[in-house]
Amino acid sequence: MHVLLVEDDDAIAAPLGKGLERQNFTVHRESTGLGAVSAAAGTPSPNIILLDLGLPDIDGYEVCRRIRSTSSVPIIVITARGEEIDRVLGLELGADDYMVKPFGFRELVARINAVTRRVGAKDEPEEPIVPLSGGFVVDNRTRRLTREGTEIVLTRKEFDLLALLATDPGATFTREEILEQVWDSHWYGPTKTLDVHVASLRKKVGDPDLVETVRGVGFRLRADEPVLRTDS
Ligand code: CA
Repeated sequence: MHVLLVEDDDAIAAPLGKGLERQNFTVHRESTGLGAVSAAAGTPSPNIILLDLGLPDIDGYEVCRRIRSTSSVPIIVITARGEEIDRVLGLELGADDYMVKPFGFRELVARINAVTRRVGAKDEPEEPIVPLSGGFVVDNRTRRLTREGTEIVLTRKEFDLLALLATDPGATFTREEILEQVWDSHWYGPTKTLDVHVASLRKKVGDPDLVETVRGVGFRLRADEPVLRTDS
């Protein structure tokens, strides 16, 4: 497993890198934001990125945003700034998890394993192609949403949210179910994050009623009415 470690502080990066190598990870370290962006796009492509927020050139937020525009590689943010974490995990950045310095090495390895397992599990969905109301098609195999062949580019969380609802169009998913399955069972952040993602998803699909709000409960996808035959 290839780990891209993005950290400008040698006193943190050196022991962390050594520790990860002892756990049989292959570690590539970058100490700048721009270096991280190009390493993320290079070969071998990392299986996971550990990303420090405070970097000397462009900061970790910008790094995360740039990587996310082309890749859904798991990202764990390493931060000393716990208070801004909602932004990191939130809409525009889409990191998968975060750790606040100082943290224990065992905990980091546990998080790496959890995040990669979660992402890996999502690569093997039950139904590869799911047609939706309004001519939308969710392709779980390529993780793309299309409408009449045109791709609608979604963030990873937006896609996961849609794909979850698409497992049973018309069925209501509670907010708790969605947060647990799309974020993870350790999500203790504000549930407003979910509303922000739903709003953004609606805007991107350009069909605000595709995702319906079930007031006080959660969300569901609009299901087409069964076509009634009137000619027989
Ligand atoms: Ca730093």
